[in-house]
Amino acid sequence: MNVDEKLEPILAEVLRRNGGEHEFHQAVREVLESLGRVIAKHPRYAENALIERICEPERQIIFRVPWVDDKGQVQINRGFRVQFNSALGPYKGGIRFHPSVNIGIIKFLGFEQTFKNALTGMPIGGGKGGSDFNPRGRSDGEIMRFCQSLMTELHRHLGEYTDVPAGDIGVGGREIGYMFGQYKRLTNRYEAGVLTGKALFYGGSRARKEATGYGATYFVQRMIATKGLDFEGKRVTVSGSGNVAIYTMEKVIEFGGKIVACSDSNGYVVDEDGIDLELVKEIKEVRRERISEYARLKGAGTHYIEAGSVWDVPCDVAMPSATQNELTGKDARTLVKNGVLAVGEGANMPCTPEAVRIFQEAGVLFAPGKAANAGGVATSALEMQQNASRDSWTFEQTEARLATIMQAIHDRCAETAEEYGTPGDYVLGANIAGFVRVAEAMDALGVI
Ligand code: GLU
Repeated sequence: MNVDEKLEPILAEVLRRNGGEHEFHQAVREVLESLGRVIAKHPRYAENALIERICEPERQIIFRVPWVDDKGQVQINRGFRVQFNSALGPYKGGIRFHPSVNIGIIKFLGFEQTFKNALTGMPIGGGKGGSDFNPRGRSDGEIMRFCQSLMTELHRHLGEYTDVPAGDIGVGGREIGYMFGQYKRLTNRYEAGVLTGKALFYGGSRARKEATGYGATYFVQRMIATKGLDFEGKRVTVSGSGNVAIYTMEKVIEFGGKIVACSDSNGYVVDEDGIDLELVKEIKEVRRERISEYARLKGAGTHYIEAGSVWDVPCDVAMPSATQNELTGKDARTLVKNGVLAVGEGANMPCTPEAVRIFQEAGVLFAPGKAANAGGVATSALEMQQNASRDSWTFEQTEARLATIMQAIHDRCAETAEEYGTPGDYVLGANIAGFVRVAEAMDALGVI
């Protein structure tokens, strides 16, 4: 799809102003491609530089993170927080620790987060943070000192009514704990609502850990149901083996699907008997080892493959749950050739634009990440609600809320796509529905 000619100058200006930030360009282009239909119907959204303002982060913070490793050597990393949009509520979005992190990646994630959070219907703005710190192979003490140093700078920009981070790639419950501990020391406030993804015993929410994966599965379940399909007996491939992947697998198995393959950044495992999830959890959550261990421990009937791609494995449903641009046009062609029925993005922007086009042209049901993976942040908002009311809900209560939210997001995307004349186009539906909610709020608040 092309960007409407009225929106072309806006895109050109974003590209110029954010030179070299490829992922950010990709994310903005993809949203602007959907907006031509909106401004044709409602020209007021193109007035007062509203779209230009939505594409420009409210604030971008870049800072030095010095820390001391186990050998006593001083190390330096770079920390980022992009406070993208607070029209709907405090900035909300995760923190990523990965060597690939740079300002362009954090901006793309913050931009996506803004629309994702809007789609949840909850009172949360969009933001994202991170560092180019590589946690792999680092000791527990090193992780703690890094988190403390990062928070020593970051804390002045946060607050339960200001900016509320959570986890993302490389940041789980352990890291959130170290960051919360440091925030508490620096501020002398037990402000539970300043971070989400906390452990249960100090203000966390039940089902938060499971929420992104469960939510993506609920979304895909509802999407395939529109074609009279369900997960029962389906072959499902889930890329990644982190938090999102693990809990996607868990829910897919509960819904009767069979997980045939999962992966990490080194390679993938295929298990035609269905992936043994308890073993994956043991390897990734307890031992913190590579997925190659799976084939070694499980033995007969499993394969670990380093060459090629996890998408070479034939499946009915593909759930890319690792990282951005992991599923290419070539992978999409292979999946289509092998008869894939549906694709649900558990990660943020895991399919390249070419891959998305190939799926859509082939009539494959496609759920974009900003809708399908919104369950994580939605449950973060439920954690904030529990913190604000000093309450703690049961797992069942929390998961029921999550399921309802995911169904509502699905239906909002589907109805919006229908309203704008492209039924079944969840990309368009998600972009427009997310945009309209942010735009309405910004417009109501004056020139901000
Ligand atoms: N990192 C997750 C996401 O990409 C969760 C963010 C949050 O809970 O704030 O949506």
